[in-house]
Amino acid sequence: MKRCSRCKIEKPLSEFSPSVQQRLVGGYCRKCAAAQNRVWHRSRCEYVHARNRWYRDRRNGRRGERERAAADSANKAAFREHIRNGGTLLDGLKLLQLGPVQMALAEIVVKSGGSASLDEILNGLYGDQPNPDDRGRCIKALKLVTFKLRRKFENTGFAFVRPGYAMGWEIVAEGDAR
Ligand SMILES: [Zn+2]
Repeated sequence: MKRCSRCKIEKPLSEFSPSVQQRLVGGYCRKCAAAQNRVWHRSRCEYVHARNRWYRDRRNGRRGERERAAADSANKAAFREHIRNGGTLLDGLKLLQLGPVQMALAEIVVKSGGSASLDEILNGLYGDQPNPDDRGRCIKALKLVTFKLRRKFENTGFAFVRPGYAMGWEIVAEGDAR
């Protein structure tokens, strides 16, 4: 007889696997070993599923990125075509699929003749900001918007540039756009 270390029941040796029979102490009976094996197998399955899901999500994420990049370059091609055909920069902005704040910022700069000061931009985007604390927050938010807007203008023939520190922004034609 041997006592199973899982169910604590004393059972004949034949109830244990040969390798456990040889051990003087400890070991699971066949029934407990099978149950434990199922637990392990289930957790292993869950792990494998989770791992596969992780790879699948990552793959789909990358595919999403590729699709976004393709849409982005199609938008830019439409924009270049629009400018080549004599379209205005203001109308062309609509082709670049800008976010609402990006659009507002680009419109402020274009409507100011291609160059807007920092104050013009802050007033246009956030209204008059008499509180210096708010001004700092607005500039911080503006930095994020301009970072993305600069990329939206890459390969369009135009560049969204800052002429100097704290000097606002300009949209300038570059290369063969004109
Ligand atoms: Zn047992």
